[in-house]
Amino acid sequence: MALPSPHLSEIPAEGLQVSCTAQPDELHLEPDDARVRGEFDLAIDIAKVGRAVHVSGLLAGTFVRQCVRCLNDYDEPARIPFTADYLGEAPPAKPQTKRAKPRSEEEESEADATIEDEEEPYSLVGDRLELAEMLREQVILATPMQPLCREDCRGLCPTCGQDLNERRCACPEEQQDSPFLSLRKLTERTPKRPSV
Ligand SMILES: [Zn+2]
Ligand SMILES: [Zn+2]
Repeated sequence: MALPSPHLSEIPAEGLQVSCTAQPDELHLEPDDARVRGEFDLAIDIAKVGRAVHVSGLLAGTFVRQCVRCLNDYDEPARIPFTADYLGEAPPAKPQTKRAKPRSEEEESEADATIEDEEEPYSLVGDRLELAEMLREQVILATPMQPLCREDCRGLCPTCGQDLNERRCACPEEQQDSPFLSLRKLTERTPKRPSV
């Protein structure tokens, strides 16, 4: 089953539970966003809350990352939980010349229950729920800034480029791990004062 895209009227009061698979391009993922091995497995809960739609679920898939230390590609299986709120397209906002009329407490509590403060709600397209863009953002947010093939990846030798996970190279060890080198780096980082 492909990514669901129900009309509001197709979401029953008790909600929709959908299990499906999706190809990366169904999520509009570009090669720059993430490299994906195979397809995604999705479990999605869709609930109508007043005039909003609350979506939650889990996206599972395998990403191909490049380690920042050894530059090798590695597979990273990932399970990404997500929640999002969708609102109908808002009518054009009136110019705010006057202070808004205070809302009744009833309206206030309803609004608080449906929309999470921290997260911008998404917009329904007409009266249809489109999940692709939201899921694409979830995938991008889950991308690590500094991917590591493993916590203790030894990386490449800065001198000869040998992958030190595979074997040690013949370069003098003090060049790789010497207190004097750290000291030198430290002094190099200190900006030199201009001589007057
Ligand atoms: Zn690595
Ligand atoms: Zn080396």
